[in-house]
Amino acid sequence: MKLDTLLIHAGQDPDFVTGAVNVPISVSTTFKQDGIGGLRSGYEYSRSGNPSRSSLEATLAAIEHGTYARAFASGLAAETAVLSLLDPGDQLVSSTNVYGGTYRLFTQVFAKYGIRFDLTEGSGTEAILAGLSASTRMIWVETPSNPLLDIVDIARIAEAKPKGAILVVDNTFASPYFQNPLDLGADLVLHSTTKYLSGHSDVMGGAVVTGSGELDAAIGFHQNAAGAVPSPFDCYLIQRGIKTLGVRMERHQHNAQAVAAGLLAHPRVERVFFPGLPDHPGHAVARRQMRGQSGLVTFALGGEADRLVRFFAKLRLFTVADSLGGVESLACLPYEMTHGSVPAEVKHRIGITPSLVRLSVGLEDRDDLLEDLRSALA
Ligand SMILES: *Cc1c(COP(=O)(O)O)cnc(C)c1O
Repeated sequence: MKLDTLLIHAGQDPDFVTGAVNVPISVSTTFKQDGIGGLRSGYEYSRSGNPSRSSLEATLAAIEHGTYARAFASGLAAETAVLSLLDPGDQLVSSTNVYGGTYRLFTQVFAKYGIRFDLTEGSGTEAILAGLSASTRMIWVETPSNPLLDIVDIARIAEAKPKGAILVVDNTFASPYFQNPLDLGADLVLHSTTKYLSGHSDVMGGAVVTGSGELDAAIGFHQNAAGAVPSPFDCYLIQRGIKTLGVRMERHQHNAQAVAAGLLAHPRVERVFFPGLPDHPGHAVARRQMRGQSGLVTFALGGEADRLVRFFAKLRLFTVADSLGGVESLACLPYEMTHGSVPAEVKHRIGITPSLVRLSVGLEDRDDLLEDLRSALA
């Protein structure tokens, strides 16, 4: 089946007993055993397994071209499960140019347990390749990256992967609608389902998808043993959002292309970062490994520092807020907001300057969005 069909049907058969077309929200925390150990459909206690969660996990596995998926209470909870695959002394190669919360999890949580984080500056393919060694146990790639939308060539990294290393791709920005890293050789795909997958800025969630039974068993062990599981209602909301992923992503792309072109032509805008533009350094790789671009557009505003403050104050439709991937358009200042926890000298070295603006272009009328940006820039 094709993706647009899977979004609506995978893991979502009508309820066997009642025929309910939507997967029921299964709130029971515990399940009757027909005699000790006599589980009716494998469910015992909701932390270890829950019908609403299983259904969401089946949908996620199918749309990411995996075999297995595990849902978590947030993207960072999913990342914690993945990092827990490592032992003290293991080396992880990634880039400083990842989501700020991922950088914080690397450097302030897992580093103290003896994991060696070798973070390259800049998130280009070459930088990551140069960091690999025979002792690399995990490679962590975020593409497109946050907030500069750098593109990493997933297939090239997969080819160069040292034996026994696990390639993890954070696919939050592209969503499975535009990119499927498992098809390009990744071992694990990560999502903050808080973003495009749920799509309405009303639920937190995370997911890990894989084609490997062995890796899934290890992630599943952590999901149950550490317990950062999503509630059944959260699972329902995320699955509800996924049904419309295709139509939403088409419109996000359509609007983002118009916004990127509008910004590019504006005299006050110094630089536009959007992988859909032919002059973006990752454009050729993006065309090869992605089927399109989501609603993220980053740009650098020229001029004095207070110009940025005035720009944000003048926006009407773009709400100044963290996060991305919802129906509404948002604007943020990565330097202070999403990357607030990254040291200033690191931010400057990797190009996250105080003049960068990141837009999450939503689903509103594109002329209204362009007009909002035009008047704020004026
Ligand atoms: C938001 C985000 C995360 C973290 O997910 P939460 O759901 O906020 O915990 C990880 N990676 C990327 C790329 C993100 O945008």
